[in-house]
Amino acid sequence: MTDENSRALYDRALSVMPGGVNSAVRAAIEPYPFFVQKGDGGHVIDADGNRYIDWVMGLGPLLLGHSLPEQVQAAIQKQASAGPMYGTPTEIEVDLAEFVVRHVPSVEKIRFVNSGTEATVSAVRLARGYTGRNKIVVMQGGYHGAQESTLVEGDAENPAPSSAGIPQSFAEHTLPVPFNDEAAVREVFDEHGDDIAAVLTEPILANYGIVHPEDGYHEFLREITAEHGSLLIFDEVITGFRVGGLGCAQSELGVIPDLTTFGKIIGGGFPVGAIGGRAEIIESFAPSGPVFQAGTFSGHPVTMAAGLETLQFAAENDVYNHVNDLGEQLRSGLTDIVADQAPSYTVTGTDSMFKVIFTRDGPGPDSLEEQCKTGCRQNPTCPRYDYCPKNSADVKNAETERWRRIFWGKMKAQDVFLSQNQFECQFVSYNHTEADVENTLEAYKNAL
Ligand SMILES: *Cc1c(COP(=O)(O)O)cnc(C)c1O
Repeated sequence: MTDENSRALYDRALSVMPGGVNSAVRAAIEPYPFFVQKGDGGHVIDADGNRYIDWVMGLGPLLLGHSLPEQVQAAIQKQASAGPMYGTPTEIEVDLAEFVVRHVPSVEKIRFVNSGTEATVSAVRLARGYTGRNKIVVMQGGYHGAQESTLVEGDAENPAPSSAGIPQSFAEHTLPVPFNDEAAVREVFDEHGDDIAAVLTEPILANYGIVHPEDGYHEFLREITAEHGSLLIFDEVITGFRVGGLGCAQSELGVIPDLTTFGKIIGGGFPVGAIGGRAEIIESFAPSGPVFQAGTFSGHPVTMAAGLETLQFAAENDVYNHVNDLGEQLRSGLTDIVADQAPSYTVTGTDSMFKVIFTRDGPGPDSLEEQCKTGCRQNPTCPRYDYCPKNSADVKNAETERWRRIFWGKMKAQDVFLSQNQFECQFVSYNHTEADVENTLEAYKNAL
């Protein structure tokens, strides 16, 4: 396997781009990432012609894989050849909005923007504008894009910016709590209840190892926010149209948030974000309400075409059965391998997401008979329950360096492309096959 072209490209990139990349996580691969020439089904081919089974799938947006069905490709090309965009509305924005409103339980109205980050920025502004309050409760280890209100670390007592360039006075209004910890949420509401605009959370922590909610956790968040006149915002940028099919994770959980942020899949592989929710709240966006929000590219016709055709294709074909089946095969295969070779590790994920967290402590191989078989569900009767990650601190305590420095490269050497570190999630697409799953499980067997 040579990587001369990737190395040469990275060398050029380092001269003209910070860290040689346009998004920080891409440089997590050391000494340099491979550059992609093109995608092919469930595979990518790099600049040196190496071909990998791709479980990164653009970090989430590619539900259908790299080879789009003909009707999806045709719709995108037709839209692009009608001129890129106009600065005035188009029918396809209404079509996609109607589709989302029809399928996602909590969404009565929606506004499209250009990235998941922009969606969470706008949702936070909307929650503050609607409630007239300042504070936002977030989950430690949750990811809501590169934005001032959520790039915050520490705890509710001592929140601090997690990036240079963010004033402490911004971080002050953000209250980070551990995921799955009802007492911590109760405490911040006891202290700040009157000034909490919203609780903003991913339904499943999908950017931090994949941590599943405990039974009843989101019902609890729904109740306590309603009690205090705060909004519940689900950030479904990753889980939207991935977990729970077209109804998103909220339909699987049976919890109706006030607002939902979308991104990734809803744009069919093109830059996108969206904020949906109760009509009365969404109407607070300008021009119908006082919360300013605007964007030159928002509702971009090519993106709307890609998103609509992708979701329509998924509605009319066996997309979710296919990806969820393969997801289950991967997770149950990994559960067996881990029980055999690394009994302290935890297999996580649901639907078409999967990951192995390199947790350090476990119950020992003899007692694993009754464990969660297709990804951790925080089941109290699972022998792994006392050891499986419940929040970001538990994931952070895993063997993250082994994952990154040893394991990732061993998988790459076997032509399997996994996400760049222990924390990012991996995805099954409609283009993946059972052979991809078998080859990948074989590679895990050799690498773990
Ligand atoms: C990816 C992601 C974002 C950020 O979306 P971008 O399009 O990268 O700005 C926000 N929230 C969650 C849950 C995400 O997974």
